Amino acid sequence: MSKDVEPIRSVKGMRDLLPPETWLWQRVEEEARQVFHAYNFDEIRTPILEPTALFTRSVGADTDIVTKEMYTFCDRGEESLTLRPEATASVVRAYTEHALYNRGGIHKFYYLGPMFRRDRPQKGRYRQFYQIGAEVLGSDHPSIDAEGIELVALLLDRVGIRQYTLFINSVGCPNCRAEYVRVLRQALRGVAAQMCADCQRRAETNPLRVLDCKVPGDQPLIERLPHIIDYLDAECRHHFDRVTQQLRERGVAYTINPRLVRGLDYYTRTTFEVTSGVLGAQNSLLGGGRYDGLSEMIGGPAAPGFGFAIGQDRLVLAVEAAGQLKVECPLEVYVAWMGDGALAPAGELARQLRRSGQRVEIAYQPLKLKRSLAIANKLGARFVVIIGEGELASGRYQVKDMTTGEQEAVERAEIERYLQAKREEAAPSET
Ligand SMILES: [Zn+2]
Ligand SMILES: [Zn+2]
Repeated sequence: MSKDVEPIRSVKGMRDLLPPETWLWQRVEEEARQVFHAYNFDEIRTPILEPTALFTRSVGADTDIVTKEMYTFCDRGEESLTLRPEATASVVRAYTEHALYNRGGIHKFYYLGPMFRRDRPQKGRYRQFYQIGAEVLGSDHPSIDAEGIELVALLLDRVGIRQYTLFINSVGCPNCRAEYVRVLRQALRGVAAQMCADCQRRAETNPLRVLDCKVPGDQPLIERLPHIIDYLDAECRHHFDRVTQQLRERGVAYTINPRLVRGLDYYTRTTFEVTSGVLGAQNSLLGGGRYDGLSEMIGGPAAPGFGFAIGQDRLVLAVEAAGQLKVECPLEVYVAWMGDGALAPAGELARQLRRSGQRVEIAYQPLKLKRSLAIANKLGARFVVIIGEGELASGRYQVKDMTTGEQEAVERAEIERYLQAKREEAAPSET
């Protein structure tokens, strides 16, 4: 390192994900893709940069995300752009932009990728964080909500997370919410003066947001506020009852949480959240809900939708803590060669094994056998194939099983089959 040049570090609140941690990330993503596939979802990839208005209109101008946390900049003096703080608005924008509603039916998308919020950095929370999410567009049927929540439960099970609580609530529709907001504003008039500055402001501007407040001193006051669920109109009540009934039928356990309104303005009817104690304090792993008016908020046609987003950073921590999902990416073969004449045949063997999908390492320069074995051991190789003058002359390479220490001379042409047979006898219970 240079003495004169200050080393550059990553941006505060952002981090590098390194192996072997990335193995676990990949495994979690693989499980997610399989579960989405099984439920007939397809992947969508939207840009990380979006026009700022997409989020101010959808997430809500008075939310923490929009007022404090977005990375917004002016693109060369032309247009205000924002690094996406979430992806639902982007997916709905894409749905509208490409007129997917004209194709009719229900559209089921999933996405994986980084989101950006200038939040206070803390364990499991980063300013570049990752979400695994899904959106279902084109139907307001309660079965959509129940199926999405069932999918989440399956995914958590697949990654080994069994200890969690699924909270559910309904935030109604604009029709019934107007009445609730009126009642809530009235209730807040009596207590807002004793609450935090944000709540005092929101008591008038956006009373629902008061329910999201995390300030400890406000909690007893918030607990006594009226519950939105008691103010649902007949349609919203029916929707909520159908969703919860279907969850029971599907064997998905849930707890009704009347305070669960989620920190975004676009939710209608169903909201849900999963918290887990595996990370110490109860921590939110994922959340979502229905957003039947979102498409219109950003200038699209009426398009009911339902979705959720899993915080992958915290999910991976929870997966690690649960310890059920085992991830190993061992080196299968190390090819050790001695003498310049062995390089070409060693390279040919490595190529053959790599083409068949095995993880293979080969020395880049000739090494003494003892040194090669030490490297293979350090890399955790399962087998070492040894190619020296004697092996080249006989056409039989030495294959050393590093787990048993046994060594055998194997015909060159038989090596791939031999390794395959060895692996199968080591893992007979795979199927
Ligand atoms: Zn309603
Ligand atoms: Zn407050």
